[in-house]
Amino acid sequence: MNEHGQDAVRLAGERARARLGGVLAGMVARVASEGEWRAWARQVERAGHCARPVRIAGSAAAVDAATGEVRAAYASAAAPDGVLLVPCGDRRASVCPPCAARYRADTWHVIAAGLRGRAGSGAGDAVPESVAGHPAVLATFTAPSFGAVHRASGDGPCRERRGRPRCPHGVPGWCDARHGDGDVLVGRPLCWDCYAYADHVLWHAAVPELWRRTVIYVYRALARLATERTGSRVSVRAVRSFARVSYVKVAEYQRRGAVHLHAVIRLDGVDTGDPGRVVPPPAWADAGVLASAVCDAAGRVVVPLPEVGGDIGRSLGGARGRVVRAARWGGQLDVRTIDDPARVAGYLAKYATKSAGDLFAGLPSRAFGSREVDRISRKVANPHVMLLVLACLRLSRRPECAGLRLDRYVHTLGYRGHFATKSRWYSVTLRVLRGVRRAWRVERAARSGRADPWALARAESAGLVLVGDWAYAGSGWARAGDADLAASLARDHAAAREASDLAVVVRVGEGS
Ligand SMILES: [Zn+2]
Ligand SMILES: [Zn+2]
Ligand SMILES: [Zn+2]
Repeated sequence: MNEHGQDAVRLAGERARARLGGVLAGMVARVASEGEWRAWARQVERAGHCARPVRIAGSAAAVDAATGEVRAAYASAAAPDGVLLVPCGDRRASVCPPCAARYRADTWHVIAAGLRGRAGSGAGDAVPESVAGHPAVLATFTAPSFGAVHRASGDGPCRERRGRPRCPHGVPGWCDARHGDGDVLVGRPLCWDCYAYADHVLWHAAVPELWRRTVIYVYRALARLATERTGSRVSVRAVRSFARVSYVKVAEYQRRGAVHLHAVIRLDGVDTGDPGRVVPPPAWADAGVLASAVCDAAGRVVVPLPEVGGDIGRSLGGARGRVVRAARWGGQLDVRTIDDPARVAGYLAKYATKSAGDLFAGLPSRAFGSREVDRISRKVANPHVMLLVLACLRLSRRPECAGLRLDRYVHTLGYRGHFATKSRWYSVTLRVLRGVRRAWRVERAARSGRADPWALARAESAGLVLVGDWAYAGSGWARAGDADLAASLARDHAAAREASDLAVVVRVGEGS
């Protein structure tokens, strides 16, 4: 190694030591005093072990409006670093694992409550237990093919084609390889030129409307099935007066960059006197009827797409060979009845915290413009995903696509739906669950007797006026080393929780 090289190595070593020194010094300072360490650990716990909390500084007081008397007060000045930590609340596992875990747990409760019912306190947080008897199905709506892609095939070859045809670009239409799950080729097209990138993006943009129409078509199919079952003609309007389709759905990105929708669809009755009540549907509407209505609807529903000419206008007819500018569901519809609500809830909740950026590392969690493509392309290192990004940006400039607002959904490859949504009467809302958690924390804070912002919330509910003065102090951790300490506290917390879950299981096991 020459002198210059040795210098560079020495410099890098010094830099690493200095950084490590800073982290260690920060950690030592945190744990130096038992009292301060406890206060900080409590603060981290109160922020839900968030990986990048928002730091705010200031104070709040609960004031009796009639007398002006301050009944309770909290000031961040007395807290470690003089700040209050507020969780970031991001639902994406790639951004903040603890906040995403909480979102996933809440989503699980929302989904499970819609299948098993939930006892509540009467404040809109209950779902009747009778929902367990309503017909319900788990359905997966897939994307159609936009061109052949390599697939993780397990034992067999990736793609077998009789006659071994080549595409117009001379690329083999078959692949003899056996790709493992981790193979980067999985999800990428056999021929880049044949893959219908514009259609893929336009289909993504149509998915929310495709779903909306699917629900309408389920009602139409139910009317047909009701006519068959009851022997007298039943109109769609009549069906809506005694049956309601409730659902929760989540989007999952496939390796080829297209979303699938997983949905729990439940059939309810209608109480015309009280539309908010969740009641069982008529007896003829069983799970079999619901499943065939869903299959029928998924097969029929069509959403017209803008006619895009020129180099990016290719047919969406795909395998069928028809030139149809319309979006449909893919042929691989999967509809099954639900026998294990907890497992189904876990299955759906898992997808609710995964966005495109979780599957394709380096893809930002916000929209971006053409100028950033080069930089992002180096991070993503997946030409297929970047071609989808470019198709999205190109289409966004076409006047025919103006209504699709594709420039705002570049980071989701054109998909503009939410990752998890539910219909109004399916279950309780995430907001209700947050309210329940808040009430529990307020109670606990009040019992602890310590100065705690949550204790103030209780004063607020007692009819006092809450006045506060807060300023933003920063995002993320105040000192080097805090992130590591907070992460270890989060691990301890998760381990303790797992142990207590296990204890419950053991107790239940002993009791039976
Ligand atoms: Zn967070
Ligand atoms: Zn292959
Ligand atoms: Zn080709």
